[in-house]
Amino acid sequence: MTADAISLDCPLIMPATSLDTIVSLCKRRGFVFPSSSVYGGLGSTWDYGPLGVELKNNVKRAWWRSVVHERDDMEGLDAAILMNRLVWKYSGHEATFSDPMTDCRACKTRPRADHVFAAQKGRDPKGLDEINAAIAAKEISCPKCGSKDLTPARPFNLMFRTSVGAVDSGDDSGLVYMRPETAQGIYVNFGNVLDTMRRKLPFGIAQVGKAFRNEITPGNFTFRTREFEQMEIEYFVRPGEDEAAHEAWIAERQNWYLKLGMRRENLRVREQEKHELAHYAKRCVDLEYKFPMGWSELEGIANRTDYDLKAHSRSPENPDAVGELKYFDQELKKHLVPYVIEPSAGADRATLAFLCDAYEDALVKEPPAEDTTKLRDLVESFAKSVGRREGMAADVKQRLVSTAETIAAGLPGTLPQLIGLMEDSEAATIEVMKKVRGVGEKIAEEHTRTVLHLHPRLAPLTVAVFPLKRNDPRLVEMARGLKRDLQRSGVRTVYDDTGAIGKLYRRQDEIGTPWCITVDFQSLEDQTVTVRDRDTMQQERLLAPELASTFATRLT
Ligand code: ATP
Repeated sequence: MTADAISLDCPLIMPATSLDTIVSLCKRRGFVFPSSSVYGGLGSTWDYGPLGVELKNNVKRAWWRSVVHERDDMEGLDAAILMNRLVWKYSGHEATFSDPMTDCRACKTRPRADHVFAAQKGRDPKGLDEINAAIAAKEISCPKCGSKDLTPARPFNLMFRTSVGAVDSGDDSGLVYMRPETAQGIYVNFGNVLDTMRRKLPFGIAQVGKAFRNEITPGNFTFRTREFEQMEIEYFVRPGEDEAAHEAWIAERQNWYLKLGMRRENLRVREQEKHELAHYAKRCVDLEYKFPMGWSELEGIANRTDYDLKAHSRSPENPDAVGELKYFDQELKKHLVPYVIEPSAGADRATLAFLCDAYEDALVKEPPAEDTTKLRDLVESFAKSVGRREGMAADVKQRLVSTAETIAAGLPGTLPQLIGLMEDSEAATIEVMKKVRGVGEKIAEEHTRTVLHLHPRLAPLTVAVFPLKRNDPRLVEMARGLKRDLQRSGVRTVYDDTGAIGKLYRRQDEIGTPWCITVDFQSLEDQTVTVRDRDTMQQERLLAPELASTFATRLT
């Protein structure tokens, strides 16, 4: 086995420290684009490009396989996005699915009052009353301009409204909502699935689909958007068996992320406090990921008791439902309303977390000493320039100065960190950054590599095949044939001959392709090819006819 030529025993590596680095890679390499960009975009909406759609589909597929196909107690569902408005009336969304908003009378912005309270008081508020007491006492201020002249907070419903039918009658007769979660589609189909699939408790229903929320403060790239995809499970159990089922799902869902390569130290379980719980929830834990902007929710796993099935059952409180959503327990010989455990994940958030977790810049070769000196001088002058800059927020200033000083002191070992700084949107506002980039980008390109260590099952492409020389028809023919055969056997494969092999390796590393195959002259004689591993950069010679089964084994 041989490895790519590297002159450092242990490459110095750097995970993504800012979301800007991930956003930049995503735009540059076709993972995610700003939506409607030819018209200047639409805030916080994103389109998944050729590689992004493959990655996100792989995330959804891995989830479906794990929670539906590999279990005996689950069924799948794909419910409509538009539903009878009564679903949202009796689920409680019409009355309560809202965020508390306050208006700043000074700068006319409308921030989320619970977020302002949490950021400035260091803890979550206990409710609207506590927020409003803090506003009245002028204990919290506008996060934009600092004014304490805030209006009392009031609820703002997050559901998008639209209407069905050809005529907009001007009243609410045709009103429907774009579903804000997929879960309700599952509850109202509980009876259908139970009857048609002859299920016994415990069993669950899984669904992947779009959801829409008119979020007031979307942001952090695809972390919080107004249109997103959820991967939700409603798991029905006998009352009394709910707590054990909840524990099992918490473990199961954590394992799913870990088995797909997420680093253990970046994933944690957070128990929701009593005042955070929805009024019907018995218990809820969040799985949180350490995103570059801090620990944030990846998935919520709640014990929702029998609230939802009862809410959609005919009763004095709900005269509109056509019947009752209940279960006849053959063993107990009685009807009961199951309790529900709900592991609710976001496909976009999971995709973003896998991307952040997989990202790494590594120094693979020492640059010449004179290049390092030149770069160090420029980074030092950038740090001084930031220090002199007026009108920049103090925390941003401090972050940029200390990052630049650390980088300057540690070059060339800190070249991977410099890549992050060169992509930082705040750093780009400093004039000297242009010069840093002018010199730094070339040095970084030649001496570092960006790698996405995505799990092979998630990587957008599994294999890339190159001919050693693109002007040799025999090599090209064999490489193209190999691409065709692998693709036919279900291994996602591309052919590329648009650069030197080293450059092609780097390109595939950056998008996370686990294996690159090179067809060379020896291949023509003995049918062996070089297979290079993305993570170790080791190369091995394998027999071409055996590759399909080799990769199939590696992918399971
Ligand atoms: P948050 O507290 O972040 O607003 P939530 O608790 O309201 O999230 P849930 O209603 O539990 O979220 O939704 C389940 C999952 O759906 C979340 O864990 C997240 O992965 C995803 N999700 C929710 N809202 C959004 C959004 N606006 N953009 C992207 N994903 C979202």
